[in-house]
Amino acid sequence: DEAWNEGLRWKLHDPARQEEVNWRVSLLGELDQAIDQGEVWLAYQPQYDIKRGQIIGAEALARWTHPHKGPISPSEFVAAAENNGRIAKLTDFVLDRAIGAAAAVNRRGVPFQIAVNLSARLLSDRDLLDRITAMLAAHDLDPRHLTLELTETATLQDADSGLATLDALTRLGVRIAIDDYGTGLSTLDYLKKIPANEIKIDQSFVKSMRVNRSDLIMVQSTIALAHSLGRTVVAEGVEDKQCLDELTRMGCDVAQGFAIGRPMGVRELIQRLQIRSTRRVA
Ligand code: C2E
Ligand code: MG
Ligand code: MG
Ligand code: MG
Repeated sequence: DEAWNEGLRWKLHDPARQEEVNWRVSLLGELDQAIDQGEVWLAYQPQYDIKRGQIIGAEALARWTHPHKGPISPSEFVAAAENNGRIAKLTDFVLDRAIGAAAAVNRRGVPFQIAVNLSARLLSDRDLLDRITAMLAAHDLDPRHLTLELTETATLQDADSGLATLDALTRLGVRIAIDDYGTGLSTLDYLKKIPANEIKIDQSFVKSMRVNRSDLIMVQSTIALAHSLGRTVVAEGVEDKQCLDELTRMGCDVAQGFAIGRPMGVRELIQRLQIRSTRRVA
């Protein structure tokens, strides 16, 4: 309509805005190729069981090192890929690599949980379930060692097929986590509807909970709510020891953040896990 066209005209005549549009479009054209050419790789960020005092797994985070543009943040290319229906190829690549790495670690006798980010909109993809089942079988990973972190839960709205996929994944044994809980549209309604084993409190609350009383209350009450519902709570953005101590006092289950470890390459992860031979884990 009028207003939209007017807005578009304005955007197209704003050079900074135009540059941003060009950037996103050029990224998208290259992402598929970048995956094939080995420019996309995975960083692993440890997840720490507070009560047991040990690392129990890691979250796989996509990284793109562009040969000319340098490192490109996943917040850039994931959002672009989601909006243009190109997210499936990236997700399959990440799942395959991450499941492979987790299987290799578990084979060395170290129980290890791998978390992979999944755009909720992919749940309506009819054969996602089959592809995940096939990858788990190919790498011989127990489905219970895979956690899918649902991002963008807003897009699950009214998607019965999405909820059906989630139920099927749960029956298979895969764990489900609600990512970035407390932000966006990850409401209490989703908490009720989604069969999630885990709730990840968004880092925006965790990082500032010692200087901002309302953030502290949000974290405390989310832990209480999650535990009442029988769910595991993960705090992300745990940047220092004091924050970890506070979360320990509050009864939080799992911590993730710079205080435990930054996202790292697979070799460094293996060292952290104190696994002797790094061969065949890649
Ligand atoms: P996320 O899943 O919430 O991941 C956590 C982000 O917080 C990561 O940023 C991580 O590097 C950062 N982080 C972890 N600990 C700390 C901390 O203590 N302090 C601070 N300031 N930051 C911390 P990253 O790697 O840039 O990823 C951003 C987002 O991109 C992710 O948020 C996730 O939504 C998305 N993403 C990454 N990889 C994938 C993927 O393979 N598939 C999909 N669909 N999304 C992905
Ligand atoms: Mg995540
Ligand atoms: Mg998160
Ligand atoms: Mg996030």
